[in-house]
Amino acid sequence: MKIVEKKCPNCHANLEFDVGEQNVKCPSCRRAYAIEYDKDFVDPEVQLKAKDIQLKMLDDFSKARSFHKVYFIVVLVIAAIIFCATVFLAIDGYKEYKETKNEIETSEEEWKARQKAEDEKYEQKQKEVEDAIKEQIKRQSEQY
Ligand SMILES: [Zn+2]
Repeated sequence: MKIVEKKCPNCHANLEFDVGEQNVKCPSCRRAYAIEYDKDFVDPEVQLKAKDIQLKMLDDFSKARSFHKVYFIVVLVIAAIIFCATVFLAIDGYKEYKETKNEIETSEEEWKARQKAEDEKYEQKQKEVEDAIKEQIKRQSEQY
């Protein structure tokens, strides 16, 4: 803030600022002067400070933005990794499911085929035994 010394236009004494009345008074001739503010006047120091603040804000903003960019990319990469892992695991799980299903089906078929072979063998044996009994009966009836 700049302080300007002002003298009374009437008696050239130093003017005093009256805080209560918000005007300037001459202690010598007791004249009072109203203060007219220049609305467009901005203290260059204040202007510089404002510029500094503005620059700092812009800097902070760009830093925040670049940080957000990095953060966004990191989150995106993590999400992509999780997605890929999920897809990979799903495909792997499906493959394993298919393989297991095939194995079960194959072993079921094998078991059925073995069962069938076993049944056929049993029937054959039964037929052989029946034939042997018939042969024996026939021979015995021929003897007597
Ligand atoms: Zn005066």
